[in-house]
Amino acid sequence: MTKVYMCTMENEKTEGKLCMNIMQKIWSKTRFYLVKAAGHIPGFFDGDDYYCNLCGKSSRIFLPYGTKSDAAIHMIGSGVRPHCECPRCFSHDRFRWVYEVLLRHTDIASPERTRALRVLHIAAEPGIKEHLCGSRQGSKPLAPVEYLTGDLERIYSDVQVDVTDMHQFPDESFDYFIINHVMEHVPNEKAAMAEIHRVLKKDGVLFISFPMSLTAKTFEDPSITTPAGRREAYGQEDHVRLYGTDSKERLEAFGFEVQPLVAKEQLPESEVRRMALIPEDTIFMCKPV
Ligand SMILES: [Zn+2]
Repeated sequence: MTKVYMCTMENEKTEGKLCMNIMQKIWSKTRFYLVKAAGHIPGFFDGDDYYCNLCGKSSRIFLPYGTKSDAAIHMIGSGVRPHCECPRCFSHDRFRWVYEVLLRHTDIASPERTRALRVLHIAAEPGIKEHLCGSRQGSKPLAPVEYLTGDLERIYSDVQVDVTDMHQFPDESFDYFIINHVMEHVPNEKAAMAEIHRVLKKDGVLFISFPMSLTAKTFEDPSITTPAGRREAYGQEDHVRLYGTDSKERLEAFGFEVQPLVAKEQLPESEVRRMALIPEDTIFMCKPV
């Protein structure tokens, strides 16, 4: 009797979740077209309160985005952010910070660059490749960049890549390896980090980030396998760990010299606010040692 009751409860939960997912997809599309339509009303978003470095436009508002988290621990980069999304190009706070870091800490878009580059960007944030890889800077042609986007599913990227086994790339293939908000999905972190280390050139640089707790150490427990358990432990049902305050040391243990780039430490407070970045958002700049 108890078993039957529990099965019914599970079915109700599954059906409820399916219904919720469909409703969320419909709302997401409707919201997209409403914002697009509003953008066609002259002056609707005009203002100077916010600035998007990806589309280069200012707006009077940025839009809320994100989903409410079930996680027991607060983490940066999750939950609803009130000014997350640019209404002009739909960039998110995280995309803008990744782009700003790449502009400031790489020579990909530098007009002074004379060396050719090879870059692999896993689960690439939308729009960044196009912005970084203009073939000319003003009137000056840039040295070539082979900028590949990679993902487990080819439809989203230039190449299909499993970061735990990148056999298609020889050792020391890339000048830059960019991977944000991916490692929290990868059970075999050790294999992935070893592969990233292998395909990076000796003088190459890895840029890596993940949702992260600012109050607890990294937590993972392979016995947590249910969607509800993972949502509670890690904030999302397809996550397998929650990174924490020991993330720098964790990356160092994989053979890197690590510099955390924290938005509020890299930029004046006024710029963090105007670009609506998450002040604590951290991208780790790592060099193989
Ligand atoms: Zn924008």
